[in-house]
Amino acid sequence: MSTYTVINPATATPVKEIELADLATADATIQKANKAFESWRLVNPGDRAKLLRNFARVVDEHIEELAQLEVLNSGHTIGNARWEAGNVRDCLNYYSAAPERLFGRQIPVPNGIDITFKEPLGVIGIIVPWNFPMPIAGWGFAPALAAGNTVVLKPAELTPLTAIRLGELALIAGIPEGVFNVIPGKGSVVGERFVTNPLVRKIVFTGSTTVGKGIMRGCADQVKRLTLELGGKSANVIFADADIEKAAAGAPGAVFDNAGQDCCARSRILVQRSVLDSFLEKFEVAVKKFRVESPELETAEMGPLISAGQLARVREYVPEGSEIAFEGTKPSGDGYWMAPTVLLAKSTSDRTYREEIFGPVVSVLPFDDEADAIRLANDSEYGLSGSIWSRDIGRAVRVSRAVEAGNLSVNSNSSVRYWTPFGGYKQSGLGRELGPDALDAFTETKNVFFDTNS
Ligand code: NAP
Ligand code: MG
Repeated sequence: MSTYTVINPATATPVKEIELADLATADATIQKANKAFESWRLVNPGDRAKLLRNFARVVDEHIEELAQLEVLNSGHTIGNARWEAGNVRDCLNYYSAAPERLFGRQIPVPNGIDITFKEPLGVIGIIVPWNFPMPIAGWGFAPALAAGNTVVLKPAELTPLTAIRLGELALIAGIPEGVFNVIPGKGSVVGERFVTNPLVRKIVFTGSTTVGKGIMRGCADQVKRLTLELGGKSANVIFADADIEKAAAGAPGAVFDNAGQDCCARSRILVQRSVLDSFLEKFEVAVKKFRVESPELETAEMGPLISAGQLARVREYVPEGSEIAFEGTKPSGDGYWMAPTVLLAKSTSDRTYREEIFGPVVSVLPFDDEADAIRLANDSEYGLSGSIWSRDIGRAVRVSRAVEAGNLSVNSNSSVRYWTPFGGYKQSGLGRELGPDALDAFTETKNVFFDTNS
């Protein structure tokens, strides 16, 4: 077995050695999950609900431990990491109400009774990226388990620690052995095996668009079910009639949170030309105030990037000597630090304006009117998220209906709630997670007709 050394990105020092699963281990664990499915699907709904609530309670008792692990492994600010662990608890609580409400329908038909059932799929393979290890895992495993499936979960190679701990907490909570399995390993080994092993009936993938496309091709061989949450290049659209003060104060958090390593990052700021100067002036003050510091500090608003490799990839977009509008601060010393960086886009064909950078870099571009704003916002292969700032209700409604993205917020930058649907248009993904309908993605609809004449 090979191993991987987890590195603390804030200090560039080793934290822990992790054993990586090989193909045989992946297959054996998938087999185990498939065996556990036979009994887990039959656990009566009330008992499955109780077990999920227990799991939520045990996670709640370990919020601080999980949060500290994420700070150490991923460099997330402690405030964010606590929210992330709390999000896992909340997802489990939310979907713990599902087993007792997994309703089918009774549909009027002649000569009999027609009923639909929502049946679990079997083993669900969840592949998680390194940017939000806890929430993205929970968005998959909470509804998957609630619907009666068993789970094999592969964390990103860089960030396995909280997933491993969640696997242990599930057992402490009484989730039966084999129902929720965490398999640290390489994407090219364990992740690919989820796609090729026919016992895995569905893949939930979050990560880059390139890898997602490969997984989609692989799933085609078995017509394997698939949900994809991929990249983004979301627009923060600020109209002249908005509260410019508030929009400017919120704009750094909207893109630099998690060091910009967020698929929802508002990394294109579109500002109506008449307020561009006034916006930039306020935005500059906010960027310079944005606290980039050791993620353990309660005051930290941004920590380091995840790895030396990611820092190099991001830096490559703004090499030494690039023309930048202004930048924020960063601590000196070891670790993968980069200051928040603001660029004025010269044209919509700039690489930095079009490509997902996945780091603390934002491009600002002016627009003339509402039609221009919509055209620019939609001029992207992605469509995950975005914000619209305006005091004109009619405009806010028109623009939010016209922007091709799955998660928008008006006069706000918040796009993730466990009880509302989340997912992307275009190359940002396929399907939706979270919210009341997520169970549909983890069940098959079975229709049964009962002849009442016989
Ligand atoms: P990635 O390289 O696509 O990796 C994501 C996951 O897939 C990791 O667990 C990775 O394992 C695994 N993987 C890699 N190659 C694989 C393969 N051939 N078969 C199966 N699994 C494979 O992405 P990342 O670098 O972790 O994350 C950054 C990207 O994720 C960004 O583009 C971002 O936009 C996107 N993202 C999207 C969302 C969303 O909700 N839409 C959320 C978060 C991130 P290893 O770590 O072992 O390589
Ligand atoms: Mg990768």
